[in-house]
Amino acid sequence: MSDKLHEKFPHVVLIHYSEIGLKGANRKTFERQLAKNINRTLKGVLDTPLKQIYGRFVIPLPDEFRWEPIQNRLSKVIGLAHYSLAVVLPQNMETICQVAAEVMERMDFQSFRVTVRRIQKKFPMNSDKIAAEVGAAIQKVTGKRVDLKNPEATCFVDIVEDMALLYTVKYPGIRGLPVGSSEQAVSLLSSGIDSPVASWKIMTRGVHLTFVHFHSAPYTSPASINNTKRLVEVLTQYQLTSRLYCIPFLEVQQHIMMNASPAYRVVLYRRSMLRMAQQIATQLKVPALVTGESIGQVASQTLTNIRVISEVAELPILRPLSGSEKEEIIRLAREIGTYDISIEPYEDCCSLFVPQHPVTKANLDSVHQMEEKMELLPLEKKAVESAEVFTFKFPPGENGS
Ligand code: ATP
Ligand code: MG
Repeated sequence: MSDKLHEKFPHVVLIHYSEIGLKGANRKTFERQLAKNINRTLKGVLDTPLKQIYGRFVIPLPDEFRWEPIQNRLSKVIGLAHYSLAVVLPQNMETICQVAAEVMERMDFQSFRVTVRRIQKKFPMNSDKIAAEVGAAIQKVTGKRVDLKNPEATCFVDIVEDMALLYTVKYPGIRGLPVGSSEQAVSLLSSGIDSPVASWKIMTRGVHLTFVHFHSAPYTSPASINNTKRLVEVLTQYQLTSRLYCIPFLEVQQHIMMNASPAYRVVLYRRSMLRMAQQIATQLKVPALVTGESIGQVASQTLTNIRVISEVAELPILRPLSGSEKEEIIRLAREIGTYDISIEPYEDCCSLFVPQHPVTKANLDSVHQMEEKMELLPLEKKAVESAEVFTFKFPPGENGS
């Protein structure tokens, strides 16, 4: 048996979520969906049932556990404010003080504070008194100074139900709304940097996405489709299941190339992509589309072109990156784990046959005239019908990892 006192007590994962602004039925939906997502994310790594207490979740840990895989997986759950590895103590000041001092003694810091949340008001001491007493015990053992404003280390004590939860690290969560608590959307996913980030941002509003990718095989290498699949794998960690529609775009593209003015190609490609994505959204009864456009980033993304492109869509097009600059998008791409895949060299369907001087202000009447002369709709219908559909699932952990 270990001689460390804190190891004699059970440990739990303590999860705080932020439900600020959510009321009544919305809050219940949020909590139920979040609990389900946490359970599914931790499957195979930690399978003990989760308990809800006073606006937080607690998951009991077995005697032997590895924290790293649990932490890894929780860092992918949308809707968490922060989470911690906590030790469960009886509501007994002597024990709380002893364990706090022992745990803090093993940490490296110069200044500290104790932060107490007393949810169980029946406990006879108030938060300030508890903090003062626990702080004194820590100081006695470590000799370190108290700094309430800017401490290097914090000992947190939550008094809830009949226990005291003690922890020292708050791991930041992604926040946002748990995936599945809002509706669904169809996201146009290239293998570039922007659309995976745009997709992820919409997921953090609780929306579950189905992905649509257009490829120009055999002109483009299988790498472009493969990279897109790898991107979907990364994104699936955040929404647990995904579907990817891979649509052959070459015939549509060649038809546009042969029949329209070169400067208008990209705008016409984009309109065609949106019409096809919308067909899929309609089939799936999904009410919105998502793209990774950012105003002014490339010639096809001027406001006038965005207006001309959007004209084909009846469904709203969500463009969460429209106001973001590239630096910010890249930072997010790194954080969510898509950047390294997105920058691998590949030929995108649209890097093929792209004119040197694309229009920056497409004229809608000219676009209509060009489209009237073409036979795009039957080609688009055929392309959608020959889509290959792939399904993805965030794999449960094996052997605790
Ligand atoms: P990304 O980095 O997402 O590729 P981008 O900056 O290259 O975007 P565009 O090439 O103009 O910009 O594409 C604008 C948006 O159109 C993309 O963000 C994506 O949503 C959609 N899109 C472009 N190409 C494809 C494709 N091959 N398959 C699916 N969607 C696409
Ligand atoms: Mg691109």
